[in-house]
Amino acid sequence: MSTYDLVGVGIGPFNLSLAALCDGVPGLRTLFLDRRPAFSWHPGLLMEGTVLQVPFLADLVTMVEPTSPWSYLNYLRHHDRMFPFFFSERFHIPRREYDHYCRWAAEGLRSCRFGAEVSALSWDEAAGAFALTYRSAGTTATVLARQVVLGVGTEPVVPAPLRPLLSRSSPGPVLHSADYLAHRDRLRSAADVTVVGAGQSGAEVVLDLLRAGGPYVRWLARTPAFAPMEYSKLGLEHFTPDYIGYFRALPEAERERLVREQWQLYKGVSAETLADIHDELYERTIGGGEPPAALHPGVEVVSARADTDGYALTCRHAPQEAGFEIRTSAVVAATGYAAARPAFLEPLADLVDWDAKGRYQVDGQYRVALDPRVSGGLFVQNAELHTHGVGAPDLTLGAWRAATILNAAAGHVVLPVPDKVAWTSFGAPRTPEAARARPSVGSLR
Ligand SMILES: Cc1cc2nc3c(=O)[nH]c(=O)nc-3n(C[C@H](O)[C@H](O)[C@H](O)COP(=O)(O)OP(=O)(O)OC[C@H]3O[C@@H](n4cnc5c(N)ncnc54)[C@H](O)[C@@H]3O)c2cc1C
Repeated sequence: MSTYDLVGVGIGPFNLSLAALCDGVPGLRTLFLDRRPAFSWHPGLLMEGTVLQVPFLADLVTMVEPTSPWSYLNYLRHHDRMFPFFFSERFHIPRREYDHYCRWAAEGLRSCRFGAEVSALSWDEAAGAFALTYRSAGTTATVLARQVVLGVGTEPVVPAPLRPLLSRSSPGPVLHSADYLAHRDRLRSAADVTVVGAGQSGAEVVLDLLRAGGPYVRWLARTPAFAPMEYSKLGLEHFTPDYIGYFRALPEAERERLVREQWQLYKGVSAETLADIHDELYERTIGGGEPPAALHPGVEVVSARADTDGYALTCRHAPQEAGFEIRTSAVVAATGYAAARPAFLEPLADLVDWDAKGRYQVDGQYRVALDPRVSGGLFVQNAELHTHGVGAPDLTLGAWRAATILNAAAGHVVLPVPDKVAWTSFGAPRTPEAARARPSVGSLR
């Protein structure tokens, strides 16, 4: 049986970043497994014209290792696109190109293996290592690993009132936005479509349907407004190691309150997409006529039912405490994603020190709290929103987090990572002197 120093489960951008940073580290034996046949980044939402919401510098490696061969700039060089990219003067690259860049890296990294679904993870006491069982090409294999990093992503969430509609294949399409492209043609030819959820995915679906010129589009948001994502320079400092350090030390109730209240940091819509929707409606109403859409903030769907010619959504406008019903022929639930406990973890479940709500307890190096009998390390990426805050799903911190995990798994600093980079002091000054002092750049680092 093969033994690895580190095995990654799942090859999304976060574990792919770790694979890229591990590449070439002397003596480190790594393996990364993914059940998909090849790298694929949210294929159901990879529409033409959509862009990455972080600068291209948040690629797999650059924020911690700009000289790595797996940078986006090196990808451009390999594809003879450096000059076109230079002339395009883009900081926010097309999502389709980010997907292609990641696929290029995944295909070039010898540690990445696709078509390999992990079905069980357990602790082998005799071997002093984790045992990972995976299915690949019709066979089952087991490998041993001293450290395991879970990068299995998040699962689409459909709110309870809409769930009964999902099992119905007729009278019209009902789906999560994660599957949008597979159903786009049917949605475009529907009489009207109701999009529920006012995050970036909902906005992109609304815009795509409007641009197609097909259905009447109704957009329902539970939030009080179709609000833009916070993208001010100081606001973005919530996506720094400094903020993570501050957030981790807060009491649990305070952390949960903050994550709820900070929705505009990670659930809002880019100002450009909101402007594009406005522009589209402006264009479509030149010379008069009704807009081909209705936008309803402050509205929650409380129940839904199907009948012969469509769906009836019972809604509530919270501020006015008003109830009303919407009839529609198709529904897209752009209602987000959440971390879920993977089924393959079951054999290890008794050795995981879950918190009172059944979630991982994750330390500053992204290590999950385990029974002391387990001498190996289990790490998570993008499953620590409750302990580390809004940066958990954000690509900005991906390379930094992967390097932090690499250093912890290696037991020494392979790649130096900063822990103070922000101008903002998130907590109270620790001493009266610190409160008076004017920090210089040097003293912040
Ligand atoms: C449409 C969309 C656009 C986004 N755009 C941005 C953006 O512009 N900027 C930003 O900062 N964030 C963005 N995000 C948020 C976030 O960065 C992405 O969701 C990102 O893909 C998360 O990466 P991940 O590695 O955690 O998981 P994923 O990309 O979901 O990858 C997880 C992988 O694990 C594999 N897997 C799961 N279970 C197993 C198993 N048992 N065995 C083997 N493999 C398994 C899956 O096949 C999958 O490939 C976006 C999210 C969405 C949905």
